[in-house]
Amino acid sequence: MSTADLLADFGTIKGELAVGGMPLSLLAARVGSTPFFAYDRRLLTERVATLRSVLPDGLDLTYAMKANPMPAVVQHLAGLVDSIDVASAGEMAVALDTGMPAERVSFAGPGKTAAELRRAVAAGIVVELESSTEARRVLAAGNELGVRPRVALRVNPDFAVKGSGMRMGGGPQQFGTDAEQVPGLVAELVGADVDLLGFHVFAGSQNLRAEIIAEAQRRTVDLVVGLADLLPTPVRYLNLGGGFGIPYFAADTPLDLGVVADNLAALLDGPIAAYLPEARTVVELGRYIVGECGVYVTEVVDRKVSRGKTYLVVDGGMHHQLAASGNLGQVIRRNYPLVVGSRAEEETVETASVVGCLCTPLDLLGNDVELPRTEVGDLVVLFQAGAYGLTASPTAFLGHPAPAEVLV
Ligand SMILES: *Cc1c(COP(=O)(O)O)cnc(C)c1O
Repeated sequence: MSTADLLADFGTIKGELAVGGMPLSLLAARVGSTPFFAYDRRLLTERVATLRSVLPDGLDLTYAMKANPMPAVVQHLAGLVDSIDVASAGEMAVALDTGMPAERVSFAGPGKTAAELRRAVAAGIVVELESSTEARRVLAAGNELGVRPRVALRVNPDFAVKGSGMRMGGGPQQFGTDAEQVPGLVAELVGADVDLLGFHVFAGSQNLRAEIIAEAQRRTVDLVVGLADLLPTPVRYLNLGGGFGIPYFAADTPLDLGVVADNLAALLDGPIAAYLPEARTVVELGRYIVGECGVYVTEVVDRKVSRGKTYLVVDGGMHHQLAASGNLGQVIRRNYPLVVGSRAEEETVETASVVGCLCTPLDLLGNDVELPRTEVGDLVVLFQAGAYGLTASPTAFLGHPAPAEVLV
C-alpha cells in the first residue's frame, strides 16, 4: 500500500497527519509522551462497514482480538462485529467485559491448560478444542462445575492451497486435530455431557491472494460437509477461519475482497444451505480489521550523518513495533510505510534512515526513505501499526518505558 493512500485514509489537517480527527502535534500533546500507538475509531468503524457491505448477508464476522487486545479497541469493535475470538484466559476476560454474550466468544489456541479451560467452561464461552487432551480437560471441568461445555473441534485440514509463495493449510502442525483423526475424537465426545456445536478450520494468515483464500474456503466447506454426519446433532457452528491479508509494503497489492465475498456467497447459497443449514457461519479476522487503522508515533531525538548517510534517531523502535524492523533480521527486510507526520505535505528533499533507540543495528524502522528535511523534535509515524504491534513486540528489551496507547 502506498504511503499516499494511507495518508489519504487518515487525512491531514494544516499540513499534519490527522489521527482521530486531531492534528498529530495536538494528539501528541494530549497523550503527553512519545512514543505512542494511536488507533483511529472512524477508520475502524469504516473498515467493519466495508466488510459488512461486501461480504454476503448471513455470514458472521468474528474479531480475532490477539491482533489488537487494547480493551478500548475491543470494546469499540464488540459493538460492530458478531463475535470475538480469544487466545488466552486474559483475552477472554477483556472480551467478556465488553458485554459480548459468552456464546459469541470463542477460545482457540494450542496448549490450553486445565485452569484456563475451567474458566472458559465456567464462563460459557465456546472452546475450540485443539486436541483430545483438551477435550478430556473440558469434560472434567464441565462435570466438576455442573455446566455443559460448549465446544467446537478445530480441524487441521488435509489440503494445502498454494500459489505465489502463499500457502493455506496442509501438513503437520500443532494446531487442531488432523482431519483423519476427527472421527476418533468425535467418538470420545458423543454421549458425553458436552454441546458439540461444529468445526473450526483456520488454514493460514496474511494472504493477499483472493483466489487462494477462496479455494481454501471451498475445501474447508467440503471437509466439514464430510465430517458433519459424525455429529449427533446438525452442525450449528462453522468457522471458516480468515487469513485476509493487508498490504504492508509498497509493492503489495491489496486483497480483492469482492472475489472472496462472491465465493462466500456461493458457498452459503450452495453447499452450506444444502448440507449445513443450521450452521452459524463465520469468518474470523484480526489484522484485516485493525491493522491499517493504527499508527506508531515516535519523536526524532537525534539527527546525524555517518560517512554520507543521514540517520534520524527516534525515541521508539523495534521494542514496540518489531514487525517494522524486520522481525529480528529473520526475513528480507522491507520498509513499512512511514511519514514525518508533522510535515505530511512537505516535498521530499532528502534520503535518510530512521533508526530506533536500541543498541542493535537491527533497530531499523526505515532504510533510505525519501523524506522532507527532518529535524530533532519532528514526529515520525509508522503506518500499518494497528495489528501485532505493541503486544507482539519485545517491550522489555533494553528496559525503556512502555509506550502509551490511545483510541481516538
Ligand atoms: C491469529 C488468528 C487469527 C487472526 O489472524 P489475522 O492474520 O490477524 O487475521 C484468526 N484465527 C485464529 C485461530 C488465529 O490464531
